Amino acid sequence: SLSDRLTATFKGLRGKGRLTEADVDTTVREIRRALLEADVALPVVRAFTGSIRERALSAEVSQALNPAQQIVKIVNEELIGVLGGQTRRLRFAKNPPTVIMLAGLQGAGKTTLAGKLGKHLKDTGHTPLLVACDLQRPNAVTQLQVVGQRAGVEVFAPEPGNGVGNPVEVARRGVEHARDKQYDVVVVDTAGRLGVDAEMMQQASDIREATQPDEVLFVVDAMIGQDALAVAQAFQEGVDLTGVVLTKLDGDARGGAALSVATTTGRPVLFASTGEGLADFEVFHPDRMASRILDMGDVLTLIEQAERAFDAKESAALASRFEAGEDFTLEDFLTQMQALKKMGPLNKVLGMLPGMGAMKDQLDELASDGAMKRIEAIVRSMTPLERHNSKVLNGSRRARIARGSGVEVSEVNQLIDRFTEAQKVMRAMRAKGGGGLAGALGG
Ligand code: GDP
Ligand code: MG
Repeated sequence: SLSDRLTATFKGLRGKGRLTEADVDTTVREIRRALLEADVALPVVRAFTGSIRERALSAEVSQALNPAQQIVKIVNEELIGVLGGQTRRLRFAKNPPTVIMLAGLQGAGKTTLAGKLGKHLKDTGHTPLLVACDLQRPNAVTQLQVVGQRAGVEVFAPEPGNGVGNPVEVARRGVEHARDKQYDVVVVDTAGRLGVDAEMMQQASDIREATQPDEVLFVVDAMIGQDALAVAQAFQEGVDLTGVVLTKLDGDARGGAALSVATTTGRPVLFASTGEGLADFEVFHPDRMASRILDMGDVLTLIEQAERAFDAKESAALASRFEAGEDFTLEDFLTQMQALKKMGPLNKVLGMLPGMGAMKDQLDELASDGAMKRIEAIVRSMTPLERHNSKVLNGSRRARIARGSGVEVSEVNQLIDRFTEAQKVMRAMRAKGGGGLAGALGG
């Protein structure tokens, strides 16, 4: 998986201070492969990785992340952006009825979606009407009626005198009917073909013209693969879409079509269809799809945690003090313990940090809630001199600190021993040029 490959890449990049062109290229190559594996259309992959590369090279060096993590973060942000950024909800008309038109190839899942949308709308307090405008396929009208019945939603079907044989007329009358009978949302199901063809596109365009929809949703099978680009382009040009619905995401499609279609149409994905049943329907969340495409939810979670926990300014100050030759003090120890604790399970986080293996067990134990409070109390009971130079901590000072913080002297001794060990590790890391924990986190 991409996670595995990036973990290998991380190893090579750990401890470096800035994003070099070589670092960026190595990581971007892995991203490119992952996108192709997720079946993103090739031209989209090229354009996407091109802009990633540019942004990564001009990015400021993060204090909280190493270079590879920083690139992954950029990729994730860009993916979410292309997929529409925030979750996009349906837009309702100021003057009902709201008209939602469905367009897409035959078999994409439009009729099924009409039922799901109908149920979703009904469940959220609307009174929807489904309009059957696919007069191409023999059973299409019946199929919509069955779906509507299952969803408990009315269906407007062509009858003699009601536009039979003319899908544009059926659509127009359907919307009129909704206005008369006070349905507040109309879902217009249309015909598709197996491939893009001019007649179908004209019909869709005419239906759009006749019904003036508030939403024109492009329904597309997530398994469509490399064809996504051409089909999406044709529909965008032919009918002018407002949004996208991805279907059949229950299969093993990794969702690359989402990126291809969103890039090509410039329209956000609103919903995902995840099965044949009426309930297999979800509001689409760009951030979740981005993780699915990159298959690296865990990596992203860790990056978020590391960033949240790590105060960039503190880190920069610490790093520059180390560089200036200053020592690791008890105050730094406390700050870092607090930062680490915010990150959650330490064993997981420490796996990301170079050189921290030696301290792992101790930190795990130290970072439990009660222990943390006592450490804080002990360090706070020290004078500034003691915090900055632990060598002065003789017996009487230790006894005073223990009294001040309400712990046994043995606990003060234990903390000072542990700090001394940590200080040794930090000094050794500095000698190797790693920049200590700040360097480990800051890259
Ligand atoms: P239309 O031609 O665009 O109206 O497509 P249909 O709604 O008739 O769906 C075509 C086929 O795909 C039907 O067999 C549906 O049951 C199936 N289908 C639709 N949406 C999904 C989905 O999200 N997942 C799965 N597995 N099948 C779906
Ligand atoms: Mg249909």
